[in-house]
Amino acid sequence: MSCDYRALALAGVQNLTPYQPGKPIEELERELGIRESIKLASNENPLGPSPKALEAVRAQLGGIALYPDGNGFALKRRLAEQFDVAPSRITLGNGSNEILELVARAYLAPARNAVFSAHAFAVYPIVVQAVGAEARVAPANGPDHAMPYGHDLDAMASLINADTRVVFVANPNNPTGTWLDEDAVHGFLKRVPEDVLVVMDEAYFEYVEADGYPDSSRWLDAFPNLLLTRTFSKIHGLAGLRIGYGVSGEAVADILNRVRQPFNTNLLAQAAAVAALDDTDHVSESVRVNREGLVQVMDACRERGLGFIPSVGNFLSIDMGREAGPVYQALLREGVIVRPIAGYGLPNHLRVTIGRAHENTRFIAALDKVLRA
Ligand SMILES: *Cc1c(COP(=O)(O)O)cnc(C)c1O
Repeated sequence: MSCDYRALALAGVQNLTPYQPGKPIEELERELGIRESIKLASNENPLGPSPKALEAVRAQLGGIALYPDGNGFALKRRLAEQFDVAPSRITLGNGSNEILELVARAYLAPARNAVFSAHAFAVYPIVVQAVGAEARVAPANGPDHAMPYGHDLDAMASLINADTRVVFVANPNNPTGTWLDEDAVHGFLKRVPEDVLVVMDEAYFEYVEADGYPDSSRWLDAFPNLLLTRTFSKIHGLAGLRIGYGVSGEAVADILNRVRQPFNTNLLAQAAAVAALDDTDHVSESVRVNREGLVQVMDACRERGLGFIPSVGNFLSIDMGREAGPVYQALLREGVIVRPIAGYGLPNHLRVTIGRAHENTRFIAALDKVLRA
């Protein structure tokens, strides 16, 4: 063992901290010997997938001996109709995270940089660092801002320099749940140089009901440097199948298509995604359950004097008023999995995914028990 295989890796990769996912239920139950746990840790849909998506998956199961359609014809056609763009402007990904990675591989490298906000989605620093590019992290809004911990687009714009190729904007952002309105986003798009790609990450788009929240797809034609990304992992309840997509100008889609794996999205995921898009009832029911659940959890926080970051997503980051790690650990022992977000620079907050009413109730009861102890 004379060779250090860690030291042989690219410098950026050596210094990576792996993404920390929400703890799987099976892992917790194995470790603690408990049962009936609930997971409110990864912003999955508590209603599960659309029954129509499940049916579509079952119908395809016999076909898995064959490679899928690498070009995802049916899903791209469906999305192209929805966005009123040519199918060649759609990029499918193994989750929308893959789109973020394709962007980094195609547009970033040492001596180039990407700009994003503090407290932004953890995948941005990972994909940027993995290719040896510089991450330029803009300070976020302060805690007393109307959109506390949210993106400060002015601060982000001022970090853009001649070596910047990509800006990541999460709207709404995870784990803060903060969002940017139409004027802010449009003003930003006008301000960013045309040789900088703006990745508008809209993983929670379907959940947002705030007035003035933009559908950035209508700016696609005006801004060929705009790439919006969305996913089937959140509202569509298909996180386990790994499918997401990007919509952009022709040229950006062409470039991303060159670096992706030939069969990056699988047969079952493609079929489920088409069916999920058609099940608008399931989407609106998911929005309704989330709206009510968010109110339930926010009210519970207010009653207990716990602060939180106002969220338009399907999650809420709650201020424990002290280091949140031990609270997270104690909640695990109650069989409730949430998400500590110290890694996002929010050491006193826990992010809880909004569940169905009984799950929210269980979380609140466990939190009461833990905070009393
Ligand atoms: C969950 C999430 C994604 C997408 O995840 P995939 O499962 O890879 O589609 C992207 N961006 C943000 C901000 C998210 O929270």
